[in-house]
Amino acid sequence: MDQVFAPWRIEWVEREKTENGGCVFCSFDEDDTDRENRVVARSENAYVLLNNYPYSPGHLMVIPGEHTGSLPDVSEAVLLEQALLQQRSVRALNRAFDPDGFNTGRNLGTGAGGSIGDHLHTHVVPRWEGDTNFMPVIGETKVIVEALSETYDRLHAAFLTQDGARQSDSGAVTLTL
Ligand SMILES: [Zn+2]
Repeated sequence: MDQVFAPWRIEWVEREKTENGGCVFCSFDEDDTDRENRVVARSENAYVLLNNYPYSPGHLMVIPGEHTGSLPDVSEAVLLEQALLQQRSVRALNRAFDPDGFNTGRNLGTGAGGSIGDHLHTHVVPRWEGDTNFMPVIGETKVIVEALSETYDRLHAAFLTQDGARQSDSGAVTLTL
């Protein structure tokens, strides 16, 4: 039986809102908890977040720093910056994991299967020939946490080699695009 590829069903969070009801993607202000939050890189108006429920190792999301779920409404400058950061993410993933390919995409609207509809985000999913869903292989939560921590370190190191990259106090790599 062929497996249907549907990584977009695996969203980053089980809850859509923060404890005080705010947007979770807007809640990751630049502070010293970037590593804990799995924010691995930041540009001025976008950031890269590891997916807590990865389809495959290195599954990340590129999130624009503008709160809107509407692609037609996001500002051009922020959209461009998100695209550039997506390009940087593919480079970093190539360096860190050398995958055979990628799936990238957005869920726009609840009808498309996304769980966080009010803040745009683009999935970047590294793929390997013959890979299957990573989660059943990984199994237990503790193992996932350790795997994510290792993924974070490898990607962080890869981002740091890029042009305009520097280590910031927040823990994430700051990129000048
Ligand atoms: Zn938001």
